[in-house]
Amino acid sequence: MGKIHLLDKTVYELIAAGQVVEKPFSAVKELIENSIDADAKNIVVEIKNGGRTYIRVTDNGSGIAAEDVPLAFANHATSKVVTLEDIESIYTLGFRGEALASISAMSNVQLLTKRREDELGFRYEIEGGVELSSESAGCPDGTTVVVRNLFYNTPARQKYMYRDVSEGNSIASTVQKMALSHPEISFKFIRDNKVEFVTSGDGELLSAIYTVLGKNFYDSCIPVDYKFMYVTVKGYITKPLASRASRTYQNFYVNSRYVKKILLATALEEAYANRIMSGKNPGCVLNISLPSNVVDINVQPNKLDVRFRDDDTIFTAINSAANDALMKFDSPEEINADGSRISANSSVTHRQLYTGVTTPSDRYDQLSFGTSSSVRRQSTAYTSDLAKIFMKDYIPPYKSKQNDDEVAAPTENNDEKNRVEEPEPENKYTYISEQSFAKPVQSEAVSADEDVSPEIRVIGEAFKTYILAECGDDILLVDKHAAHERYIFEGLKRNVTTLDSQMLLNPAHATLTYEQYDALHDNQDTCKRLGVLVQFGVPPMVIIIGSPMIAQDMDPTDLAVQIADCIIEGKKNKGKDIFDDLYHTFACKAAIKANSDTNIVELEYLMKLITEEDIRYCPHGRPVLVKLSKREIEKMFRRIV
Ligand code: ADP
Ligand code: MG
Repeated sequence: MGKIHLLDKTVYELIAAGQVVEKPFSAVKELIENSIDADAKNIVVEIKNGGRTYIRVTDNGSGIAAEDVPLAFANHATSKVVTLEDIESIYTLGFRGEALASISAMSNVQLLTKRREDELGFRYEIEGGVELSSESAGCPDGTTVVVRNLFYNTPARQKYMYRDVSEGNSIASTVQKMALSHPEISFKFIRDNKVEFVTSGDGELLSAIYTVLGKNFYDSCIPVDYKFMYVTVKGYITKPLASRASRTYQNFYVNSRYVKKILLATALEEAYANRIMSGKNPGCVLNISLPSNVVDINVQPNKLDVRFRDDDTIFTAINSAANDALMKFDSPEEINADGSRISANSSVTHRQLYTGVTTPSDRYDQLSFGTSSSVRRQSTAYTSDLAKIFMKDYIPPYKSKQNDDEVAAPTENNDEKNRVEEPEPENKYTYISEQSFAKPVQSEAVSADEDVSPEIRVIGEAFKTYILAECGDDILLVDKHAAHERYIFEGLKRNVTTLDSQMLLNPAHATLTYEQYDALHDNQDTCKRLGVLVQFGVPPMVIIIGSPMIAQDMDPTDLAVQIADCIIEGKKNKGKDIFDDLYHTFACKAAIKANSDTNIVELEYLMKLITEEDIRYCPHGRPVLVKLSKREIEKMFRRIV
């Protein structure tokens, strides 16, 4: 006799139900989705014992017609989808017709509902998929669903429940995520008879953020509003310095549906690369709107995953949206008289502050990292103190020289003239990554109708580490090593910098893997640019005959292997800045050191470079520049209150 038999209906229904409702929070999520789909303006969620014994979701939405109620609990019964084509154009959160059936298969459910147009409402009770009672009842407009003893008939599931507090926290966080996706709906969350939060439902995302994510998150918010092809990205991201250790504060929505997707997190995080310390993550509340036919939301029964028709477009949209917002709103830190940080939501951008000093493009190129041709000709011996090499080309601002192709010292009189006539630097620094190619980089030259930016006057340095400068009504403090390091890093990253090599007295013979050999062989230009000179022997043998001057203490073979591995990794990991780690290492070695002697002219020059480049963070994400306003100083001295 054969072993295969058809499963009993109750058994397979329980199995299917378990996929939709894994945990108490999944039941809550499904019930809230139903309330949102019913156009509710108020939703109350109440739980007891982490949702295990009691979940109540009450809404003031459309209600359900009495005759439809039993059907709503049947499997695959829905009012939201009729034909196959409907699945292509779903704008409701529910569509599978499984939630009520699944929940009621594993618990006791009481439902009370009334449509506005009906005089009487309807009460219904069902347990383990079996109807217990159904009757007319007086009740307010809308729907209340009470779920008792979830998983009572699935002991295995019960074993996987965490403590009530943890399950309750997951529910709270579910309600929060839903509240953030619908600021026009007021959400109230009650846990064990205590109200935990109520959102206003005023339609302002920021008020929902304030209530749900707290003041710190709110204070660090930068608005995002960006369109790329058919994708619109809207919401808020956090300032780099407000980054957190976990990704918990990342909330992504696709057409207002909360989703968990690593692609979205990566796209966001890459916009922050080099602005935040490693191991830290930005936070966000971002809604990605797109036509329903380019996204598949029917990937998992719990509807938390989605599939995009074109991942690259979505990646670029989010990445560029975040870059764009960071560029516009990310201003340098300001500190209060008491040393605390002033809220970062300032409307004045860093760029606006510092455009008073600019360099024509040809000079700009020569000055970058002291390794391009003109500088190299002059520097017979390379010293690690790059600032000294830079100085050979440098005309200090106080020796004001008005040659057209020379750096003009900005003075009150010639500011206007300079602003209009100076050509835009070709390699102007930009945070926009390659992926954002589709959106032309905005010119950030000061246009005639903008305010004249204040001149920067370097006062000196403190502790041989911090440059002190005056700029309009601010005192600026700049970490000279961090700033220079970032400047060099950017040069390397934009490929405008080629590292000088020195020939090795003893060339290094190395046996690589075939993959590494091919990687170097196919990318000889990259190797040269990074100062590593390789000769290719019988695969997989190579001979390294030159290594970068600034990396004298690094083993040339290790370096070649590192480059090869970066190239290999880059092929697998599209969109990632594969050489960043290597660039960090080089930049750190080449930059002026803290505690080193640097004269005023060098300081002025460095200040000029970093303000032109709009450098705000070192490659490791530490801030480079801090400002203290005159007002704050006056407060310190009690000149004003
Ligand atoms: P789905 O949401 O996928 O349609 P559900 O099992 O969640 O499936 O719900 C079944 C049907 O019951 C819905 O299509 C809807 O018509 C109705 N319904 C459920 N909850 C509500 C509610 N809170 N308000 C109005 N109608 C509801
Ligand atoms: Mg539903």
